Amino acid sequence: MDLTFSDEELAFRDEARAWLRANVPKQPLESGDTAAGFAQHLEWEKQMFAERWSVVSWPEEYGGRGASLMEWLLFEEEYYLAGAPSRVTQNGIFLLAPAIFEYGTEEQKRRLLKPMAAAEQLWAQGWSEPGAGSDLASLRSTATKVEGGWKLNGQKTWCTRASFCDYMYGLFRSNPDLPRHKGLTYFMVPLTADGVTVRGFDRLDGDEGFAEVFLEDVFVPDRDILGEVDKGWYVAMSTTNSERGLSLRSPGRFIATADRLIGLYKDRDADDDQLRERVTRAWMEAQAYRLYTFQTATRLLDGKQIGYDASMNKVFWSEMDIRTHETALELLADEAELDEGRWMKGFQFALAGPIYAGTNEIQRNVIAERVLGLPRK
Ligand SMILES: Cc1cc2nc3c(=O)[nH]c(=O)nc-3n(C[C@H](O)[C@H](O)[C@H](O)COP(=O)(O)OP(=O)(O)OC[C@H]3O[C@@H](n4cnc5c(N)ncnc54)[C@H](O)[C@@H]3O)c2cc1C
Repeated sequence: MDLTFSDEELAFRDEARAWLRANVPKQPLESGDTAAGFAQHLEWEKQMFAERWSVVSWPEEYGGRGASLMEWLLFEEEYYLAGAPSRVTQNGIFLLAPAIFEYGTEEQKRRLLKPMAAAEQLWAQGWSEPGAGSDLASLRSTATKVEGGWKLNGQKTWCTRASFCDYMYGLFRSNPDLPRHKGLTYFMVPLTADGVTVRGFDRLDGDEGFAEVFLEDVFVPDRDILGEVDKGWYVAMSTTNSERGLSLRSPGRFIATADRLIGLYKDRDADDDQLRERVTRAWMEAQAYRLYTFQTATRLLDGKQIGYDASMNKVFWSEMDIRTHETALELLADEAELDEGRWMKGFQFALAGPIYAGTNEIQRNVIAERVLGLPRK
């Protein structure tokens, strides 16, 4: 791994830094998991798109800058260091788009990518169902072939921000006679279609961050299948490793949080060896995560893939995030709850890290069986 950046990469970083410093909203936006906050975030994301900063690593024809993987990582660092808001379009741009780039037809790419980057078409993720979370392949929502398309039926749950989105992608059982992983198809569904009911509900912190989506005989045309019929599992799984290993949580986010923690420690003038040790550890962990990510990026640039070790990455960032926030709350002591919600809210969301993107228990199973080669029982 070579950590010397090229002149081109440094010039890109400087341009991104200058733009972000000049344009990031001065006042923090409201939570993107409320209707009002979501609208504020969209305004920001649209401004980013207008100036071609919303999807820097995508080809120019879809609104990007054709930036390299290294440049994307540098952009992410600058993004969070500038205090920019979290991305409410992430389910589209970070999770669906990579699958479209890999499996989509040219027509789908032309039709879907640009409006997604522009924050005009907003996507929710519909994997989980009541009774099918960790064991996703047990899902029961169905797709039945009809003239020109498919009829979808069933229920999806825990769909992040689906109340504020216009589309959802998800897996449906298209062939009940095949083994469970094999009869699933990946569909893209307008949430405005006849037969769709979206019911929002609150998270632990009170924001309406989740929704359940009910589907009753919802017609979806053939052109809205991603990949092949009955092979949706492989489309979905191809992107989960890049989600866990790289795209969902870039190091910039944790570096910025660790820097804020150091600022908090200094502001508090805390003279406590144990807390100082924990603050230092938080900073070192964030730096270690950064270096590990550059190593992963180097591997990808050498033509290798992200494999099952992505699970180690996911366990690491999610547990690091909780520890960093716990240290902040201890520094704030009695004032933690008065902190206008920033550290407390961050802590509450960090608690979800070991659950979403595949629970950490499941990741540990993957590490044991697939990385370490331990027996299944
Ligand atoms: C903030 C947040 C956002 C989310 N956003 C979305 C979204 O947008 N779209 C979407 O589809 N889903 C979303 N989810 C849902 C998430 O993917 C599921 O919660 C997760 O996959 C776990 O499924 P479950 O909740 O059904 O728990 P279960 O699968 O029922 O698991 C319950 C517990 O049992 C453990 N467990 C289960 N099986 C095993 C096993 N074999 N070995 C060891 N332990 C096991 C789990 O680790 C967990 O601790 C989100 C969740 C959160 C918290």
